Amino acid sequence: MKIFRRDFLKKAGTLSVSGFLPFKAFSFEEDIGNPKTDASDSFLIKDAQVISMDPEIGNFGRASVLVENGFIKTISRNVQIPHDIHVIEGEGAILMPGLIDNHWHLWTSLLRSMAGNEKEKGYFQMTERFSKLYTPEDMKLAARFAAAEAINSGITCVNDFNHNARSPEFVMASFEGIAEAGLKGRVAYGGYRDLAPDTPTDFEGIKQVLEITSNNDKYKDIALGLGARSVDSPFLKEDWERARELGMPIDIHVNQRGQIEQLYNKGLLDNDVNIIHANKVTDEEIEKIASTGASVTMTPFTEMRIGFGFPQINRFRKSKVRLGVGVDTTALSGNANLFAVIKVLQNIANAEAKNEFEILPEEILKMVTTDAAKIQKIQDKTGSITPGKRADLIMLRKNDLNFSTGNRPYHLMTEAAQPANIEFVAIGGKIAKRDGELLNIDKDELVMQAKETFNRFTSQL
Ligand SMILES: [Zn+2]
Repeated sequence: MKIFRRDFLKKAGTLSVSGFLPFKAFSFEEDIGNPKTDASDSFLIKDAQVISMDPEIGNFGRASVLVENGFIKTISRNVQIPHDIHVIEGEGAILMPGLIDNHWHLWTSLLRSMAGNEKEKGYFQMTERFSKLYTPEDMKLAARFAAAEAINSGITCVNDFNHNARSPEFVMASFEGIAEAGLKGRVAYGGYRDLAPDTPTDFEGIKQVLEITSNNDKYKDIALGLGARSVDSPFLKEDWERARELGMPIDIHVNQRGQIEQLYNKGLLDNDVNIIHANKVTDEEIEKIASTGASVTMTPFTEMRIGFGFPQINRFRKSKVRLGVGVDTTALSGNANLFAVIKVLQNIANAEAKNEFEILPEEILKMVTTDAAKIQKIQDKTGSITPGKRADLIMLRKNDLNFSTGNRPYHLMTEAAQPANIEFVAIGGKIAKRDGELLNIDKDELVMQAKETFNRFTSQL
């Protein structure tokens, strides 16, 4: 038995379980046997407080989670520790599923907080200027850089809308950066800033990326989607039909009133469409989104920062629109903290409703776990701590100044948690962060490369 633990965990006291009992009694009492262990993706997390996000399983004040060959095998209060398995001490920590982002332009991560103070230096013009300087290698570096921040922040799955897709190589860079960091999710092939409106969409390039990625195990947990052109593009309908023939999901930015109506009238909305933003949506448009099963992904920090308006969270909820959240771009959001994203969304919802209880933390957490997984159609694989699902897990230590007292885990996760509290991350059972340190990623080297590339860009402008 090998034990990874921090000294402080030895000192951690027993957690109170008051206010945190399972929805129903659920415990595997059986002997979990003597599974074949694999040092890289089999381990036991012992005695953690568990938020499963699976309504059938509920939560535990104290339980152990056995991960075998990358998958969750059992959750149990009483575990006989299998022989020769890595044991990760969970006492004094909260374990939950990894967070799922549903909209992010990873390539802009090198342009952190670079949206300036006047129009020509604002977000759109700034990113267009920089976008032309990127090589496929720079795109991969940006994806690795963003992926490292994602993992460090507890994000185990991203939806990367690559809108600097100047050739298939620029999109493969996303796949490589995500895969090499050990992250999962999907990448949208999404044109580029200065793509002329009358230039057709690069379906030859799309097919090349599909061909490469569908035949390589390295990319098996990263899907390819279409990053749609604007609603008024003459190629829109044809593009969507071709994407659907290829089995690709579709992500589309919607910033203007009436654009949803146009999509609906063209018969294009369906449950494979993820609409980004939609801050100016009408009531009629919301009903149309709901009736077709399309999802909406809100990115509150970038939407508010750029002046699109407030996320329409309560109106969407009232009509039961499927909802997710995203980082969007650290050029505007500054960082990739999904805990902060859900916290500000909850606060916007309650403020707008003038009701302390308008949206409860249980509901808002679904937007980064179970509901988020449904948007990417990976709910059978991830999004909750459920036996049989992939072990995408994060664990937060309850010893930090901002994260120690209090016994309402859902509230703590929504209001108090920060990336710095994340002690442990596993993705597909591969441990990616342990004792608060990223594994398999040379953070200092990555930061140095990112700085060098950014400096090269600025010297070229
Ligand atoms: Zn976006």
